[in-house]
Amino acid sequence: MQKLDKKDLTLITRAQKVIEDNYDEVNFNHTVGAAVRCKSGNIYVGVNVYSLHGACAEQIAIGAAITNGERDFECIVAVRGKHGQKILPPCGNCRQMLSDYAPQCQVIVEYENGICKVSAKKLLPFAYQVES
Ligand SMILES: [Zn+2]
Repeated sequence: MQKLDKKDLTLITRAQKVIEDNYDEVNFNHTVGAAVRCKSGNIYVGVNVYSLHGACAEQIAIGAAITNGERDFECIVAVRGKHGQKILPPCGNCRQMLSDYAPQCQVIVEYENGICKVSAKKLLPFAYQVES
């Protein structure tokens, strides 16, 4: 577990802004925002979308980063609520996605009475691995 630095606080702010700008619990159920910072320093954001299976905000943010040519991810965070007031840990599916695409990426999570970051790999021990 690591403590957050100034860049991580900026990342949280970006995730909060994207859900604040797009919050919609009535029509499209956009309730979670995410932001991922790449090694390049660029930040990409996303909100969750719903259909039969939906896609989490983290997946949208990682997808936006990959779409823009990024492959090295430094830190990711997801927040829930109208103002993104609650830090949200990644769901099981996102933990697998992060384990596949960004195992070294730090993930901002809440624990006991604080906020810290932990590597994606540590969030999913014994991860499923595609046969090679
Ligand atoms: Zn998820």
